[in-house]
Amino acid sequence: MCGIVGAIANRNVVSTLIEGLSRLEYRGYDSAGVAVLNQSSIERVRAVGRVSAMTEKANEVNLNGQVGIGHTRWATHGGPVERNAHPHATSKVAVVHNGIIENFRELRDALEAKGVVFESDTDTEVVAQLLTDVMKTEQDPVKAVAAVLPKLHGAFALGIVFAGVMYRDWE
Ligand code: GLU
Repeated sequence: MCGIVGAIANRNVVSTLIEGLSRLEYRGYDSAGVAVLNQSSIERVRAVGRVSAMTEKANEVNLNGQVGIGHTRWATHGGPVERNAHPHATSKVAVVHNGIIENFRELRDALEAKGVVFESDTDTEVVAQLLTDVMKTEQDPVKAVAAVLPKLHGAFALGIVFAGVMYRDWE
């Protein structure tokens, strides 16, 4: 069963994300990854196997950001290889996901017909690609999520970060 963590702080949150994933290791998983906002861009590190393998890679590249999400994956759609590990990302969003998007095939087919190129075999990547597609016309992240969620069928939990969005002024 997968694990999802998220963190936001006035300091680098990578060690917090890794600590959170380590605490979830007992649930079982095949790969792990984190994505952070560094300035306005998304940076991510993923690895097959233990959280410690992913941590080594994160340290090698000095992964650094004040907002981030992390995931330990239990594959349901697509084998346990790095390109299927979460977070799934575009230049606009990074997504971690627990569960199954039951209608991912039809959503993927529709996006591919529009020219979207997928990197993974997962059901999860349709969420990242759909959000990116919607954000061509709707830049507000909350409204973009509200537009995408009704299109998704299944039982799932999502964690999402948006490039360039460190906080939002809530009304
Ligand atoms: N269905 C997703 C995948 O295969 C998420 C699996 C999970 O909950 O870890 O990547």
